[in-house]
Amino acid sequence: MTASAADWLARIRALSLPARLRVMNVCGGHERSISMAGLRRALPPAIELIPGPGCPVCVCPEEDIHAAIELGLERNAMVVAFGDMLRVPCNAPKGAPRSLEGARAQGAAVRAIASPSQAAEIAAAHPDRQVVFFAAGFETTMAPVAALVAQGLPPNLSLLLAGRLTWPAVAMLLESGDVGFDALIAPGHVSTVMGAAEWRFVPERFAIPTAIAGFTPASLLLALYSVARQVLEGRPVLDNCYRELVRDEGNPGARAVLARAFDVVDANWRGIGTIARSGFALRSDFASFDARRRFALEDSPQRKRAGAMPPGCDCARVVLGRITPNECVLYGRACTPRSPVGPCMVSDEGACRIWMASGIRAGTAVAA
Ligand code: SF4
Repeated sequence: MTASAADWLARIRALSLPARLRVMNVCGGHERSISMAGLRRALPPAIELIPGPGCPVCVCPEEDIHAAIELGLERNAMVVAFGDMLRVPCNAPKGAPRSLEGARAQGAAVRAIASPSQAAEIAAAHPDRQVVFFAAGFETTMAPVAALVAQGLPPNLSLLLAGRLTWPAVAMLLESGDVGFDALIAPGHVSTVMGAAEWRFVPERFAIPTAIAGFTPASLLLALYSVARQVLEGRPVLDNCYRELVRDEGNPGARAVLARAFDVVDANWRGIGTIARSGFALRSDFASFDARRRFALEDSPQRKRAGAMPPGCDCARVVLGRITPNECVLYGRACTPRSPVGPCMVSDEGACRIWMASGIRAGTAVAA
């Protein structure tokens, strides 16, 4: 019989834990399940659950948002993007739009879509109009985008890509000398596509206990039990606790289509900087569908602000797990889901928004 969440919680509570065990997750879905289920309150206080780089929209660079706004306002393109991307703010001069939503208010044709295939449908329905799909996401989102590219894009559709790979951000943290966590819960969805093996470097190179989790409280608690046991036994390994869906090699079909459509390149993460081999770019056979090339977009130095979050926003440190969302002075005060200051309060995968949605208020004492 499968153990329940209550069973795994009881097993965790029975362990002789160290005084402090910091466990990072790198998936907005994991963070949502943890927060909504109230796992932080239920676990022993020694266990700190740290949300890490699990939100691709939050790290989408400012220059890409500016490029999307320019395409919509100045190049007469119709811009389509997943809904949360429309509200992500960038720094802009007074009177200029600070988001795609702001560009729409000034007359740009901007549409929210729910799936990549909708971008193709919209392009097919508007053959006389250039349509640009502003695509931000991690591997799980980029696989269907890659499938769209591989099957053939309508001639009037191009891509402004802001796709990122998850593991290089974790590798960057581990190599930084200021790791900030003792164990890792690896992402279930990403591992479904890319394979469990992709995370083996964490225990093998960095001796950090690692477990891949699914999205139910029981699966997350099983993974937490696994990493706690690994810490206590001094035996870091990669434990796949999501065997229902995650295979060592991942999904070969999805990986093949990603490799067919995209190269892996160095990429800028908003607030963090360039991380080696952490981004997707169209392969040369599809270069004519690159919106930057099609519209001859130029990167202006003013727009290339790697560290630029909106003034006062501590999103970069939230994404890196250096602070918790409610340690930002704007959290729940000047910055709320209704009136977000930074990207982490906009996206459904942003830790600030998830914490607000789960009822954690400013100044509330919460085990990390
Ligand atoms: S609470 Fe708002 S301002 Fe603060 S880090 Fe989060 S998104 Fe940025």
